[in-house]
Amino acid sequence: MTTLLPPGVSEESFRAAYDEFVALLGQERVLLHGKDDLTEYRDPYEPESWELFLPSAVVHPKSTEEVQEVVRIANRHTITLWVHGAGKNNAYGGGAPGVNGAVTISFREFREVLEINEELGYAVVSPGTTWQELYDAIQAGGHNLMLSCTDLGWGSVIANATEHGLTYTPYGQDFQMPCGMEVVLPDGDVLRTGMGAMPNNNAWHLYKRGLGPTLDQLFMQSNFGIVTRMGVWLAPMPETFRACWVRIWDEKDVIPLVDRLRELRLDRTIEGVPVMYNTLLAASAMSKRTQWYEGDDPIPDDIIDHVAKELQVGRFGLRFALFGDEQVVEYNWEKCRKAFETVPGADVWSTKCAGKDIPNLEHPGERTAGGIPGMTALNQTYWYSEEHGGHIGAAPAVPLTGEEFYKSHLLMREVVEKEAGVDYMAGIPIINARTVLPIACITYDTTNEEQSRDSYEAAKLLITRLAENGYGEYRTHIDTMDHSQATFSWNDNAYLRFVEKLKDAVDPNGILMPGKQGIWPERLRPQR
Ligand SMILES: Cc1cc2nc3c(=O)[nH]c(=O)nc-3n(C[C@H](O)[C@H](O)[C@H](O)COP(=O)(O)OP(=O)(O)OC[C@H]3O[C@@H](n4cnc5c(N)ncnc54)[C@H](O)[C@@H]3O)c2cc1C
Repeated sequence: MTTLLPPGVSEESFRAAYDEFVALLGQERVLLHGKDDLTEYRDPYEPESWELFLPSAVVHPKSTEEVQEVVRIANRHTITLWVHGAGKNNAYGGGAPGVNGAVTISFREFREVLEINEELGYAVVSPGTTWQELYDAIQAGGHNLMLSCTDLGWGSVIANATEHGLTYTPYGQDFQMPCGMEVVLPDGDVLRTGMGAMPNNNAWHLYKRGLGPTLDQLFMQSNFGIVTRMGVWLAPMPETFRACWVRIWDEKDVIPLVDRLRELRLDRTIEGVPVMYNTLLAASAMSKRTQWYEGDDPIPDDIIDHVAKELQVGRFGLRFALFGDEQVVEYNWEKCRKAFETVPGADVWSTKCAGKDIPNLEHPGERTAGGIPGMTALNQTYWYSEEHGGHIGAAPAVPLTGEEFYKSHLLMREVVEKEAGVDYMAGIPIINARTVLPIACITYDTTNEEQSRDSYEAAKLLITRLAENGYGEYRTHIDTMDHSQATFSWNDNAYLRFVEKLKDAVDPNGILMPGKQGIWPERLRPQR
């Protein structure tokens, strides 16, 4: 039997639960630590020797009813459960549980596109369905619909949405895609949100509210339930698509760049989720670090300037896209071009195609902006090691003004370079017209223990320093959940006190994802 156990559980209870999982799902859908190879279920960016976040077992239900039964077994034996969809939450803990020894419910075998409705523009998916699978199903059905997807096609649509994950076409803006969920609760009951609470309702995946408080948000970044089905809004394929780029050569010019962008977002000329990147993030997607610098210290500014020029990526770049009827897109493009050309030294250009031709675009970033899933962005993690690249970070919500963004940029760069001792690489999605989410991508070599430890520590320090300056995390790694939640402490932690009251009410045995986003059930609160 395994030597790793869920917290507070005897080997005997664990054995009894394990036997019940096997009786329910069959031996082939229950994996055990110490017996089976669980490499695929740990965080790929955690150094191998650390063993901080490992599952004691992994179960693979294939239906809502099986999920309910797994949860009931866990309740009977007080077994801590964690959940993943595709288990690819890389940079935030991958497929690993946030509590060592938890039993992972993996949805890698519960993946199906249940419905695609072109007339009303939505799809319905089960919890392991990936972006790539949904995209392929849309194509296979010949639907004239556009998906909004993440950089990497291997993640699960539902898991990503429950993490407040971000995608780039117009419905990506402010996380608009999810609509209507089915949720297994921590006691094994199941509910449907919004209009789904009415039997046979026809608008469950069309209208986002119901009668009374809307619950969907309660199940995102949360440990109040397990989402087993969700509606996803899809836009009609636009007639015309323009992937647009702006490049600047002096870091400080990001101030007017961000200000022009905000104006064009507030008046709705630019929709969707534009993204900025700094030189080294762009370089990591296109080249190897050793090509530019041999030193172990962070790459100095004169070399960064050199990289910016050689790769023609600038000190900052901005990608945004325009979607719609040709005349509208052309009008908006001219307006954007003129506005961004007022930024000192800015280069502004774009690629135009028909919506149906987006998959044929050569630039992978342009395809992502147009809702085509891919895997190219993964190159970013190979900066320090091709085979053992790791990535952790911090990702605060920052007001979308040039001054605020630049202030947060300098702060983040200083902490990453000084504390982690690594290059500062930033991917910077502009999630709505008023907020930017600069993601400090602290990239390290997972076989280098010291660099990995410094990177984990730097992520914590970043979160603290950002909070001191009024910036809170939009999402966080399993290693920094308590640390991040502690910064949301207004009025003697009123938020945390409230959500933990809810947690204790809906999960009295404290079995489901304890500690997720820093929310602990009473039973395990001393572990915080
Ligand atoms: C190079 C690179 C680029 C990236 N680009 C993006 C990007 O463009 N956008 C983005 O958002 N992220 C991005 N990420 C981060 C991350 O890799 C993706 O968000 C990824 O899709 C998440 O993996 P997943 O969907 O498989 O989630 P999983 O690992 O399956 O799940 C993540 C977490 O969600 C919760 N969860 C999962 N399923 C459920 C459920 N059914 N019910 C309740 N809770 C659940 C659990 O707490 C789980 O730990 C990027 C990472 C890297 C390294």
